Amino acid sequence: MDTERPMVLNYPWDTPPEHGGAIEVAPGILWIRMPLPMKLDHVNLYALDDGDGWTVIDTGFGSRKTREIWTEVLNGPMAGKPVKRVIMTHHHPDHMGNVGWFQTEHGAELVSTRTSWLFARMLHLDAQERPPSETLAFWKSAGMDPEILDQRAQEKPFNYADIAVPMPLGFKRIKQGDVIEMGGRTWDIHIGNGHAPEHATFWSRDDNLVISGDQILPSISPNIGVYVTEPEADPLEGWLEACERFLPLARPDHLVLGGHKLPFTGLPVRLRQLIDNHHGALRRLMKHLAEPHSAAECFSVLFKRNIGAGEYGLALVESVAHVNHLYLKGDVTRERRADGAWVYQAKGQG
Ligand SMILES: [Zn+2]
Repeated sequence: MDTERPMVLNYPWDTPPEHGGAIEVAPGILWIRMPLPMKLDHVNLYALDDGDGWTVIDTGFGSRKTREIWTEVLNGPMAGKPVKRVIMTHHHPDHMGNVGWFQTEHGAELVSTRTSWLFARMLHLDAQERPPSETLAFWKSAGMDPEILDQRAQEKPFNYADIAVPMPLGFKRIKQGDVIEMGGRTWDIHIGNGHAPEHATFWSRDDNLVISGDQILPSISPNIGVYVTEPEADPLEGWLEACERFLPLARPDHLVLGGHKLPFTGLPVRLRQLIDNHHGALRRLMKHLAEPHSAAECFSVLFKRNIGAGEYGLALVESVAHVNHLYLKGDVTRERRADGAWVYQAKGQG
């Protein structure tokens, strides 16, 4: 969530495509943008020209507004050619929200990792009127501010089904090491983790393109979060492992087409920055945990800025990811405090 040194990266376009428009970032590859109703107010999507049709990568929130913009893009820059294939890089609703619409209304085949597909189908069924007791317990364990917790306990939670069109049965699986043809190019598939489990990225063998989804982003670091679905998870470990594994594949001239912000070159530097930022955060956290603290009491050292109400949820899940990582590595101990929060302390301090 840090905003950091972007100056060593190059951004060939300083202005994104307008809603309903597209920018051809390479022959046969369109960059499309959709709005999001959040602090991060947009998502990037891509269309790859397969000759007799398109492959679409990611689809935006499953809202009527997004589908209206899609219709403009389909009739405009995409010239009315059919969408034959839709790919989701990962299961988050800003990326997969309209996958079901492309399948049902456009007859597109879905290509996805197995975990993305299973998560998307599972979360669709998990609709709630109020946060269930497991969620309240998870928030309490993370040390959520009691006022925020009381308020959220009374509110309808974020429901995946509200912003994702249901997906019909059936998909084509991709996995680590697979190869796919699209947009007149051959792409190697490399699987990331941490931001979302089994997140697909695509590396062109024929030119300098990398489609990275949210696994690698410029100018903001991908959110690495722990959720109530798996409270003891260590997504940071999976994310760091993927970054290290991508480093030898990365070239300075790679044009990285990510899920948010602008396309950029300078991938080796960016991977190194992202890795170093998290190691730096873990070092600051270890110092902070000389005294026992809950995950929610680590915002200032992790993010080095004030966290507003609109970011509180994302900050909390990211904070839990960092303390879980230290705890599972054996660098800190944890204890239940009287208020129900786990408090963590660096070993040898208590
Ligand atoms: Zn995402």
